[in-house]
Amino acid sequence: MNIPQSSYPRVIIIGGGFAGIALAKKLANQEFQVVLMDKHNYHTFQPLLYQVSTGGLEPDSIAYPIRKVLQGYPNFYFRLAEVSQINKDKEEVETNIGSLKYDYLVVAVGSETNFFGNESLQKNSMEMKSIPQSLNLRSLILENFEQALLTDDLHEREALMNFVIVGGGPTGVELAGALAEIKKGILPKDYPDLDTRRAQINLVQGGDRLLPAMSEIASKKAEDFLEKLGVNVWKNLRVQEYDGKVAKTNDDTIFETQTLIWAAGVKAVCLNGLNSKEFLCRGERLRVNEFHQVHGFENIFAIGDVAQMESETWPKGHPMMAQPAMQQGRNLGDNLVLLSKGKAMKPFNYNDKGSMATVGRNKAVADLPKFKFQGVFAWFVWMFVHLYFLIGFRNRIVVFINWVYNYIKFDREARLIIRPFKKKYQLD
Ligand SMILES: Cc1cc2nc3c(=O)[nH]c(=O)nc-3n(C[C@H](O)[C@H](O)[C@H](O)COP(=O)(O)OP(=O)(O)OC[C@H]3O[C@@H](n4cnc5c(N)ncnc54)[C@H](O)[C@@H]3O)c2cc1C
Repeated sequence: MNIPQSSYPRVIIIGGGFAGIALAKKLANQEFQVVLMDKHNYHTFQPLLYQVSTGGLEPDSIAYPIRKVLQGYPNFYFRLAEVSQINKDKEEVETNIGSLKYDYLVVAVGSETNFFGNESLQKNSMEMKSIPQSLNLRSLILENFEQALLTDDLHEREALMNFVIVGGGPTGVELAGALAEIKKGILPKDYPDLDTRRAQINLVQGGDRLLPAMSEIASKKAEDFLEKLGVNVWKNLRVQEYDGKVAKTNDDTIFETQTLIWAAGVKAVCLNGLNSKEFLCRGERLRVNEFHQVHGFENIFAIGDVAQMESETWPKGHPMMAQPAMQQGRNLGDNLVLLSKGKAMKPFNYNDKGSMATVGRNKAVADLPKFKFQGVFAWFVWMFVHLYFLIGFRNRIVVFINWVYNYIKFDREARLIIRPFKKKYQLD
């Protein structure tokens, strides 16, 4: 990998997401050699992926080069590498570009879509965990309308314009709201020769309320907002099978749809070498102690979505969200410095700053520790928070300008089929 030997201990961080970047920033100017590896050369701001999928933002404005984050940090190295294996005995990481020994290893590989072993859903539904996946979805949505224009078969046309989003968490709610706004504000102008009123947006939730991790009032309000936008909200309904054309559920409801978006679960990315039962908890997360150490190891740590730190307050671990990931990264940075000086490490204490979800223009819900509010003010707070946490000054400006433009013009101009998407089942 062409990483020079150093007198400083080597920290390998796998993953340049929220957790890995927060840690890297903490280790700048410390007495470590830091090697950050990621399979992408950019950091992805996942909370805004749905805006890429729905043409509200360009993908470049929610991505940031990892090398730029590390610019100017002494003893830092970035390698564009996909890690395939951890050799614990040799204290070595194996990747597609070679292997490298570590003194301290930090696993910050995040999470991936969880289909709970359902092959038909995995094969035929759309995911939204990365920029390439969001671009696939953007292309598919637009291609469907182009196709709908061409067919005389009413049945086929309706299936092309019928969107099913499975999962009533923040991702599902935000995506459903954005699609509903497109239906209302953009489709009639873009496709005057198509009866776009027949387009349907269905949000299917297995439980009895949307946004189950938020307060009852937030759930209720989000549902009201969605219904006002014309989204069909289905509760206590589970999609069990999807062959690329028909989605079957646990009752008699079926959906004929060309587009099923699976936003109903995530699981940790599992690396070989750390994938045996002794290390893993529910959702394949790595069991860690309060110092982020992976069960049974002094020098292997896990932070962010991939880590499960159980405590009295958080018996199922912290939520798989950006805040815990960043806070864990920062705490681990302090702890590595303490550890290298032979001092006692600080246990991690999560400072829960609350959660938010947006449904659409002037419509958001916010549960902060002391206040719960919904509507226009929540929407402004949501925008401010997202701009604040977005990495890169240029990205903030671009996103802000886009939002102002979209707000004034009721538009989303990134509705481009740059990279046509072919559904997997069509390729078989
Ligand atoms: C659509 C969507 C919307 C979301 N909305 C919100 C929200 O509104 N608020 C919120 O707080 N959270 C939200 N989240 C969750 C939040 O994005 C995650 O909790 C957060 O990204 C976790 O940070 P992380 O550093 O653990 O992992 P990630 O940010 O996922 O980073 C993991 C990194 O590891 C890299 N990687 C993975 N495997 C390998 C490998 N084998 N080798 C090398 N590199 C690898 C990946 O390329 C990635 O860069 C959302 C997530 C999604 C998908």
